[in-house]
Formats: sequence, C-alpha cells, structure tokens
Amino acid sequence: MNFKRNFPLAEICTLNIKEIASYYCEISDFEDIEEIRSFISHKNIPFLLLGEGTNIVPTDTFKGLVIQNQIKGIELLDSFTIKVSSGENWHDFVEWTVKNKKYGLENLALIPGTVGAGPIQNIGAYGSEIGAYIKEVTFYDFHKDKVGAFSQKDCNFSYRSSVFKEKPELFILSVTFELNNEPKLNLSYDSLKEQISKDGLNEKNLKPIDIFNTVKKIRTRVLPNHLKQPNVGSFFKNVYIKKEELKKLKLPSDIQTFEQDDIVKISSAHLIEKFGWKGFRRGSLGISEQHSLVLITYEETSGEEIVTLSNEIIKDIYSKTGLKLEVEPTFV
Ligand SMILES: Cc1cc2nc3c(=O)[nH]c(=O)nc-3n(C[C@H](O)[C@H](O)[C@H](O)COP(=O)(O)OP(=O)(O)OC[C@H]3O[C@@H](n4cnc5c(N)ncnc54)[C@H](O)[C@@H]3O)c2cc1C
Repeated sequence: MNFKRNFPLAEICTLNIKEIASYYCEISDFEDIEEIRSFISHKNIPFLLLGEGTNIVPTDTFKGLVIQNQIKGIELLDSFTIKVSSGENWHDFVEWTVKNKKYGLENLALIPGTVGAGPIQNIGAYGSEIGAYIKEVTFYDFHKDKVGAFSQKDCNFSYRSSVFKEKPELFILSVTFELNNEPKLNLSYDSLKEQISKDGLNEKNLKPIDIFNTVKKIRTRVLPNHLKQPNVGSFFKNVYIKKEELKKLKLPSDIQTFEQDDIVKISSAHLIEKFGWKGFRRGSLGISEQHSLVLITYEETSGEEIVTLSNEIIKDIYSKTGLKLEVEPTFV
C-alpha cells in the first residue's frame, strides 16, 4: 500500500483549508485492512476515516493516518434489497435506483459524499432521511479487529445523528437498503410542492424521476456548489426543542417555527439571516449570500479561523435568543 506523508487536507475535503495530515492512504479493497491496521499500531497514531470529505472541518494538523474509502460495488440481493459498498458516490447510487425502478431515495438526490457516510449523520433532505430505507449496515471494528453488522434499529437513527457518531472506530463497509418496487412519492416538503406546481407538473401524474429532477433543480438553485465555492453544506443544525421551552426563549416574533406534537423545529437558517450573518465576510471566509446555513471559504484559510467564526455566530445568537446552535459537520 502507498502511505503518503504530510498530505494536504484541502485535496480531500471540500473546504479550502491549509491543514495537513501526517499520513494518508486510500483503501479500495477490504483485504488491505490488515496492512492499514498494522501501520497504525506500529506508529501508534490515531486514524480518520474519510469518504469524499464533504462534511469535515480540519481544525489543525491531523497527527495520524487519514484513510480515504474507495470500496465500490452494488449488489442486488432480491428485487428490492440492495447491498452497496460504502465508497460508492451517493448521488450516483440514487440515480441508479431511479433508473432501475427501485424507489424511495429520490428526495435525497444530489447530496454530496459517499454511501458509507450517509448513515453517520442520517443524511436527510426534502422530508426524507436515509435511515428509513436502511436494513443493515456492515462495518469493520478497528478496536476489536472484527467485522460486524447493525440492523436499522441498532443504528439508532435520529435527526442528523446515529450510533456511529459516537463510534469513530467503526469503518462502514456496506449499507443494505430496502426500497420500494412501486413508487411512493414523498411530497411533504413545501418547497418541493411549490417547485412542482411552478413547473406545471400535475401531482397526480408525478413519477419518481420527476421528484429526483425537481430536487436536483432546487438544490442547484439554493445551495452554493462546493466544487466551485468550497463549503460543507449546512454548517449548523436546525434546532428541535420541547414546546414548553419555547416560552423561555427571546425569539423575535417573525422567526419561523414548525410545530409537531410536543416538539418545535426552529429554522437556524432564518435565525442566522435575522441576526445579520447572511453574506457576512471576513478575510478568507464567510457565510454564503445564497444560503445562510452555509459557511464558505473564498481562499485558503486555517481551521482556527473557521472555529473562531463559528463560535462567534453561536455566541451572538445565544446572547440574543437563549438558543445554542450546534454545528453539523465533524470537526477534526
Ligand atoms: C453542498 C453540500 C450540500 C449538502 N447537503 C446535505 C443535505 O442536504 N443533507 C445532509 O444530511 N447532508 C448534506 N451535506 C453533508 C454531506 O454531504 C453528508 O454528510 C455526506 O454524507 C458526507 O459524505 P462524505 O463521504 O463526504 O463524508 P466525509 O466528509 O468524508 O466524512 C463525514 C464523517 O463521516 C465519517 N465517515 C465517512 N465515511 C465513513 C465510513 N465509511 N465509515 C465510518 N465513518 C465514515 C468521517 O470520519 C466523518 O466523521 C452537504 C454537503 C455539501 C458540501
């Protein structure tokens, strides 16, 4: 295997950050895991698993081995069960499902990254989450030197979270999906419905490919393209609180809230915009003009600068509302 030294993290993550990793390797065959394991234990260094680097924020030099996952393959287990290797690109796989008449993932089109990273934060968009379609996740446990599997229930999926968030020693090898052979369209998200009606599509005749294309269209319009304008998607999570806690906050009356049973969702995008951070720029980084949840880098920057700006925004909103925003990407 080729272990590279002093590897620039900007080459493998979608923020333009000048931090480096002491060592870097790619894995495209699980057979290589033994060599990687002995490299780590011989050098006595930590490791970091990476897919396409679209959801990590390197905050300093990583004094360990970055392992970039490129294990590929799609296997049909029966007419609606599909086992996908973790290094496959997520959007390409969603497109494959639509073409092959396996339905359910259309609302998750164009989310960047790999299939294997999807379960980590239970990727979600336009009223859908990956966890709802997962039957099983297989992994290699670096601590126990053993392959294992979690059922959907074991994964403990919730909003932008799962059991894997607390277990960085688990290398996700494959994800098995149970999809629908018959279309079951999810039009629960208002902006999706609005776009469909704007495009003159008749809801009664809609097909999964229409949802797939509409989601692509909306995302291309509302989100800065990470390949042209370095970013990691939403930098902050939306806030979910109990209804009774709402009274204790100092929220401006026009802040968007969405109530469901006892829980209230507060739009972080709206909060960030309301308090003047949308379009804010300081030196090499700022908050996108296009989408207030997206932190972007204009030129090479340091991890420290990103952490400073992110903390400043969290502190500002907390002091004005009593709400503490949480960051979505993984800080390394
Ligand atoms: C423009 C843009 C839009 C986005 N939109 C959305 C969105 O709508 N919804 C959403 O949920 N997310 C969104 N994201 C975030 C991102 O796309 C997802 O989190 C994606 O799953 C990250 O995939 P990745 O392969 O790039 O993971 P990486 O960034 O490489 O890694 C992310 C985390 O997963 C871990 N990891 C990666 N692969 C493995 C593995 N095989 N085994 C174990 N751990 C692993 C890493 O250690 C790290 O902690 C967006 C990002 C961008 C840049």
